Amino acid sequence: MKQWMCGPCGLVYDEALGMPEHGLAPGTKFEDIPDDWECPDCGVTKADFYLIPD
Ligand SMILES: [Zn+2]
Repeated sequence: MKQWMCGPCGLVYDEALGMPEHGLAPGTKFEDIPDDWECPDCGVTKADFYLIPD
């Protein structure tokens, strides 16, 4: 499981935790999130997230 960070606002998406309150079940891989999903904090799309190195 990986973690991804939103470039503009710094929100972290943790694949292991998902984001149940935003429709993403725990264990949802970033690549499986719909392309039209938006950061719940700032509204950018997946393209503006980057992988957090281990
Ligand atoms: Zn954001």
